[in-house]
Amino acid sequence: MTDFLVVGTDTDAGKTTFALHWMTAFTHDYAYWKPVETGQSDSETLRRLVPNARVFDPIMRLSEPVAPSLAARLEGRTIPLATEIVQRKPPSDCPLLIETFGGPLSPLNESELQIELVRGLGLPCVLVSLSSLGAITRSLTTLRYLRSEEIDVRAVVLVGPADEYAVEQIALHGSIQVVELHLPSEWTVEGLQSSANEQKRMLDVIRELLGDSSPRPLPPGPPLRNGERGETLLFRDSQHVWHPYTPLRGADEPLPVVAAQNEFLELADGRRLIDGISSWWTILHGHRVPRLMQALREASERIDHVLFAGVTHPYAVECAERLLKTTPWQGGRMFFSDNGSTAVEVALKMAYQFWCHRGEPQRRLFVGFEDGYHGDTFGAMAVGRDPLFFGRFEPLLFKAERVPVDPNRLDELLARKHSEVAAVIIEPLVQGAGGMRMHSPEVLRQLHEVCQRHDVLFIADEVMTAGRTGTWWAHTQAGIEPDLICCSKTLAGGVLPLAATLVAPKIVVEFDVADREKTFFHGHSFTAHPLACAVAVENLRLLSEGNWLNESRRIQSRWERASQELSKLPGVSDARVCGTILAIDVGHSGGYLAENGREMRRIAIENKVLLRPLGNVLYALPPLGTSDQSLDQIVSTMTRAANGAVTA
Ligand code: PMP
Repeated sequence: MTDFLVVGTDTDAGKTTFALHWMTAFTHDYAYWKPVETGQSDSETLRRLVPNARVFDPIMRLSEPVAPSLAARLEGRTIPLATEIVQRKPPSDCPLLIETFGGPLSPLNESELQIELVRGLGLPCVLVSLSSLGAITRSLTTLRYLRSEEIDVRAVVLVGPADEYAVEQIALHGSIQVVELHLPSEWTVEGLQSSANEQKRMLDVIRELLGDSSPRPLPPGPPLRNGERGETLLFRDSQHVWHPYTPLRGADEPLPVVAAQNEFLELADGRRLIDGISSWWTILHGHRVPRLMQALREASERIDHVLFAGVTHPYAVECAERLLKTTPWQGGRMFFSDNGSTAVEVALKMAYQFWCHRGEPQRRLFVGFEDGYHGDTFGAMAVGRDPLFFGRFEPLLFKAERVPVDPNRLDELLARKHSEVAAVIIEPLVQGAGGMRMHSPEVLRQLHEVCQRHDVLFIADEVMTAGRTGTWWAHTQAGIEPDLICCSKTLAGGVLPLAATLVAPKIVVEFDVADREKTFFHGHSFTAHPLACAVAVENLRLLSEGNWLNESRRIQSRWERASQELSKLPGVSDARVCGTILAIDVGHSGGYLAENGREMRRIAIENKVLLRPLGNVLYALPPLGTSDQSLDQIVSTMTRAANGAVTA
């Protein structure tokens, strides 16, 4: 917890309203200080309405309700310089909420504006504005100005009646968390208490945001035993645990991760690595994003898990409503599961059953693409069919065709076989596990057009791409309407396992019948897990505020410069970017097991970045909130790794 400043866009912006709520909610955790006061004393109001609050006296109290420098002049007094006020900050054993007066450019004394004090204190700020008409301009102007002065503004608080549009616009154009604070029904201790209780969630969010800068100490207890710095953990792991996609012998030791925050992973020995691949493409905004963690905490106070057959819960319903709104259809349904492979499995089963209901059960063939990957369950393996990963299981897999990502080749195949084909499945714009292979929205549009022409279902497997390609869905960029959409990794912000298969109305109607034999018989124990759904709802809210698009663009433009630099390195070919994904091919393709991939991973870890090359394909796919500094570090690490792998 740190001291922080409450800055208003102007006088009467609602700073004291905010301070009163804050001190009511966190009476014992913070102390209040307003260095200079004019007119009615806010410190006294605070003492009266938050009786147990610790309130430090102002340095100067002036009676006229005008700018402090004028009020002082009227009384023949002088307000000290900002540096002196900073030095007179009261020593406190708990963090201070420091309330400023007026706006940042209000005159402080005869020679300085208040910004000098704000700068001198050097603290994170919360910017407060009234939500009344003009809130967007007021907030954005002040925000931009504060940032131009290098003031660290963590959140904007809009005080007054709700204004969703203002929240959306300030978040979008200010790239900042915006929260609303409503006035209490009455200005009494009780009125404030109940208002602070009702709005505790948003106060918690701000508190988390204020705590963001310094990594918090780890809570005591497991997972590490007392004093253990990783060595014994690795030994215990080597005795008992079997890791995914890892041979039991000869693999590099796993990294003992004990904490995660923003784009960082903290290791047992104290090292901090940048999570350059968003933990297998799951973490969307960053690790432990305050709003998502808060949603999880809150939901866990009410519920744990319930079955989803014959039962529903508000988290799932809202999650489905919100996610369906992002699809190109009106209507449709969302079928929940809990990981990417099962989302795909559901799509495949539904596609086949759809044709059965339509009286075409001979449509048993699925078509996937070369370099496609859709997961590890049997249906997903059959349509992904990577020879290295799944060649072993070939005798067990159902029949599926694989074609290059080429509309003509798909057309040729469907012209011959369309009456046997249930669906075509593709990872739109970027084929992830197959080596971050990219195709254009135009190619995607043509592939979809071929499917429509041959009356074959089109499945967009957006398990990897959702949130990563510059639009929430990759397929949106091609202006197409898939029949089924699979989504998982980023759905709950990467915090918890959750998956969805979104189903177009055209398919839903074939199941919406009285015949019980036409039920879709599928479901998992943890289908629509309430806690995961609660986090997903908050994630979808965050996404609808639109701020993430700025982050995505910021990363994309850094990647575009980086790809130019990287493409000049010896041995590097095909530097490519899509949204927040940057990929290069290094040396000759040696497949997934290419030794240079392993070498590149080691070099990256030495440089404090976790990268996990796909064979000779080195790529980065960091969380959206990754700082510019960390992006630079990823690029320099990729340069070193590529150079090291070529010379190795
Ligand atoms: N589809 C795609 C496009 C994927 O990238 C993945 C996982 N990498 C999956 C499906 C399978 O997801 P999961 O690992 O959650 O089963």
